[in-house]
Formats: sequence, C-alpha cells, structure tokens
Amino acid sequence: DLVEASYRRIEETDEQVGAFLALSKEEALQAARETDEKGIDPNNVLSGLPVGIKDNILTKGVTTTASSKMLEDFVPIYDATATEKLKEAGMISVGKLNMDEFAMGGSTENSAFKLTRNPWDLSKVPGGSSGGSAAAVAAGQVPVSLGSDTGGSVREPAAFTGLVGVKPTYGRVSRYGLIAFGSSLDQIGPFTRTVKDNALVLNAISGHDPKDSTSYSGETPDFTDGIDKGVKGLRIGVPKEYFNEDAHEIGVIESVRKALKIYEELGAEIVEVSLPHSRYGVPAYYIIASSEASSNLQRFDGIRYGYRSENVSSLEDIYVKTRSEGFGPEVKRRIMLGTFSLSSGFYDAHFKKAAQARTLIRNDFDTVFKDVDVLVAPTTTTTAFEIGGKIDDTLAMYMSDILTVPVNLAGVPSLSIPCGFSNDMPVGMQIISKHFDEQMMYRVAYAFE
Ligand code: GLN
Repeated sequence: DLVEASYRRIEETDEQVGAFLALSKEEALQAARETDEKGIDPNNVLSGLPVGIKDNILTKGVTTTASSKMLEDFVPIYDATATEKLKEAGMISVGKLNMDEFAMGGSTENSAFKLTRNPWDLSKVPGGSSGGSAAAVAAGQVPVSLGSDTGGSVREPAAFTGLVGVKPTYGRVSRYGLIAFGSSLDQIGPFTRTVKDNALVLNAISGHDPKDSTSYSGETPDFTDGIDKGVKGLRIGVPKEYFNEDAHEIGVIESVRKALKIYEELGAEIVEVSLPHSRYGVPAYYIIASSEASSNLQRFDGIRYGYRSENVSSLEDIYVKTRSEGFGPEVKRRIMLGTFSLSSGFYDAHFKKAAQARTLIRNDFDTVFKDVDVLVAPTTTTTAFEIGGKIDDTLAMYMSDILTVPVNLAGVPSLSIPCGFSNDMPVGMQIISKHFDEQMMYRVAYAFE
C-alpha cells in the first residue's frame, strides 16, 4: 500500500515538481509484494518504506545518470553500498532523483534533463545539488530519500524545502558506488521530515566497508540512543562569522536567533565562538573540489562506458568530441578550474594554498569543540531563490555555499533542521558536532523539534 501510495502521489505531483528522473515501478511493486508475503518485521521500522535515491548513487539494473548526458543510458550492474544497505533494511527504492550534473551546483538547474521546482513555491529552486531528493520528500512523494553532500548538497536543499538533512562525518557512510565528485569531501546523507527518522536511516546506511578505503572502521553506534536526553547543561557554540547581518537575509538570522533563545530556555548555555578561517571556505572548497573532480571525471573518455560522440576520426577526436558534447557548461568550468589549479607552475599558488587553508579551517573546529558540545548556525544565507535568479552569476551561486562548505572541508557532521520562515519560505538551521559525534547532533536537533 505504501509503495502504491507513493506512486500515486508521484503521478499527481511530479508533473509540476519534477523530482524524478526514472521510476522503477515493476521492481518496487515486486519487492513490496515480497515484503507483504514475509510480513513486516516489527523490530525494523524501515521495512517496507518507499525511498527515493539521488541519481549519482548506483542502483543495480536501474539507469543512473548523475543528470549528465555522459551517462544517459548507463545501467549499473551493481548497487552502491548505501543502496544495498537500504535494501537490506527492507526499504523499497521507487526511483531516481534529479540533481545538478555530477552534483555540481546549488539549485538543480544544472541537470542535463529537467528542472525541479520547490514544492513550497513552484517559481523557486529546491536547492541543490540534491534538489530532486529534497523536493520528493517535501512534496510527500516519498518519506525518505538519499542525497550526497560535497559542499552542502544535502543541507542546502533541506533548508530550502523545510526538511531534516544530514551530512554525516566523512567516512561514516561508504562512498562505494557513489559517482565521485570531490572524493575527500563527498558523503551520502538522508532527507527526512523528522530528526528521529533521519537517525534511523543513518543507522541503516552507516558502517565500515572494505570497498571504500576511506570508510571508518570504528563502531557505528545507534544514532537514536540518548536522542531524548535534552540540552540541559550543554554548551552551544554560536560562530559569530556565520551571522552576517549586513550580507545575509535578515529573516534567516532572526529565525536562528529565536531558536537559540528556545535552547536557552531549555537549559543550554549559549556561547559565542569564532571560526576565523571559515571565510576562506568558498575559495578553498572550489579549488579542492574542482581539482578532485577534474581527476575523477577523466574516466569519461568515450572508450569504456557512457556517451561516445559519433563521426570521430581519431582517438584524440573521440576524447575531445565526447567530452565537449557529453559534459554541460558547469562541469566543464570545474574541470578547467581543477586542471588549472593542479597544473605545474600553479599548484603551489592554488591547490597547495587551498589545502593549507583547509587545515586552518579544520583546526578552528577542533579548537572550538574543546569548549562546546555543538555549533549552531544558519544553513544558508537566504531562503530558496527564484529559478533563473543565480544561474548566470557563477560567483553568486558559489557564494551561496559559504555557510556549508567549511563543514565538508573539516570532515565534521552537520544536520539542517527547519527553524522558521522568512519571505514565506522555510529557514534551515545547522547543528554541527565533533567528528563521529552524530549522537550529540541528533540529540540537540531532537530537543528543538
Ligand atoms: N554547491 C556546491 C557545489 O556546487 C556543493 C555541491 C555538493 O555538495 N555536491 O559544488
């Protein structure tokens, strides 16, 4: 019934919203029938629930394009570890969700295939790059979806659509089968309506995976343990650089400040802290992420798999035409930025400097976490913007990641939770905790909810 209801809702709403790229109806209904026959496992609340999966996460037998013409007809022969784990938990994948091409963007307008709209206001973007994943949950098409977050791509769309979205600690969730963008930054994370649901889904997809050499080999705790302990006596750090009254939408800052008042009433201590190097986050991120992307995307050469240009006359022609025709403008921009930053003669001035800035950013987090249990800040500087509003202004689009990228560079976990409205659109607040302390992050979020 749940899977059928999900497809009915998709049918009713997706013409306007545009969240899905592909539906796997036959497979999903078959899986649902099998679940019915076996009976729902009472100890497993996820069993039988429909889920949507971002289209850069591999799904065996179901087209996975990363919203790129390069992979338009690519059907994976294996599941990503996260996909496999959801299936093991009994969840049923109903289809694949639209995104910015290769996860590069903050509005889902860079998809090669379609536009996704914000269900709260169809003239606005749902955020990105996991905009389809956010819109699908916000429109009630699925209760849960997976996205990926390299520089904010789960948290920003969660903020823009009024959802809970999590970027786990780097290494918490296996990247095996996630189409690589910035490998030292990428993490898969869940979108849900509630904090507890989110913790349950993260429980299901976390854990060591020998197929990802950067996956964490320590314990995976139950992220719902202690979730209801409240915030009494906790120290909440407020990084002053993340509240820029002159530059950011005032309604966003006001909503987060109101939330901080509530935390104070609940018995938490609010402490102003400083993350002085976060201001270098955007330049450092765009150099590091683009450098890694330029390397990761070398595999799309027209030879092994994916798109190949027709009418080619030489090997070089295959490379040049395939890549010229297969990649969209934003992806090309990142490849050029990345290869430039890594090239001999410019490496020291760009990539190396960015890597040094990254260390300083991470050290700032390590320092403040000696004093506070979590950090609270706005997720984004504005609420969802108009479709077309930033697409021709690359710098403005990049700058909208200013509050999310430091977290990825440091590797710490962060959760975005709705905390109010500004301009009639939802506002997101992020709760950041120490490496591998997602329990604290969920506990603080749950107290607010
Ligand atoms: N908006 C950022 C970018 O364009 C973040 C993307 C992401 O997290 N995948 O790179």
